[in-house]
Amino acid sequence: TGVLYVVATPIGNLDDMSQRARTVLQQVSLIAAEDTRHSARLLQHFDIGTHCQALHDHNEQLQIDGLLARLAAGESIALISDAGTPLISDPGYRLVAAAQAAGMAVSPVPGACAAVAALSAAGLPSDRFVFEGFLAAKSAARRSRLEALAAEPRTLMFYEAPHRIVECLRDMTEILGPERRITLARELTKTFETIRQLPAAQMLAWVESDTNQQRGEIVLVVEGAPESNREAGDVEADVMLGRLLKYLPVK
Ligand code: SAM
Repeated sequence: TGVLYVVATPIGNLDDMSQRARTVLQQVSLIAAEDTRHSARLLQHFDIGTHCQALHDHNEQLQIDGLLARLAAGESIALISDAGTPLISDPGYRLVAAAQAAGMAVSPVPGACAAVAALSAAGLPSDRFVFEGFLAAKSAARRSRLEALAAEPRTLMFYEAPHRIVECLRDMTEILGPERRITLARELTKTFETIRQLPAAQMLAWVESDTNQQRGEIVLVVEGAPESNREAGDVEADVMLGRLLKYLPVK
């Protein structure tokens, strides 16, 4: 059978395209792309003539059977998204899951991912982290997600749309606290790449006052809650300890 390659493409700077990505895209029978018109530019730049077929959230389920049949027939297929690594806040999960379930070979061709690139330069703890993708567009849902994450000790990573960045930072300042350190990573690998770390309240003030910071593509890397913020897990541990203490011999 063929191989389903999951191929990362650049997030801005085309020099980040790996040699292996180019070779694989050239050699497969078909490229399943999130947006064929968008990908046509990338493929043209690298002189790749492989046929492209659209695979986006709205037709993914419909496409799967056809793609699996082609894999079974021995053809290899590459999955790409508009930028970065497929499946990371991008389509492809259902295809990969179906290929795995059908016993097909799935192989990643790693490369750029905005979240990992941002984390690598953010200057915040990187040993453990949580990727949250996009927060909800509506304020109530966004705030309740932030409330659920307020005590999370691991570094948090979010993708955010430029037209929502101010509201998002306002909610973070309020819910996570004005002192919480945030790194804004904007336009990574591109001409106006900006990476800056500030406490939440100061980040909000800076982004509000400089409209340039409200443009382009943005990752927010947010410091985790201080470990002293006791949360549900700790409370459960205390309850359990209380119960167990009853079974200890009394002095
Ligand atoms: N699959 C992609 C990846 O691996 O990063 C992410 C796709 S998601 C639909 C697009 C979001 O990723 C943008 O809204 C932005 O938050 C983030 N992003 C993509 N490229 C970026 C860049 N060059 N600089 C900063 N953020 C970027």
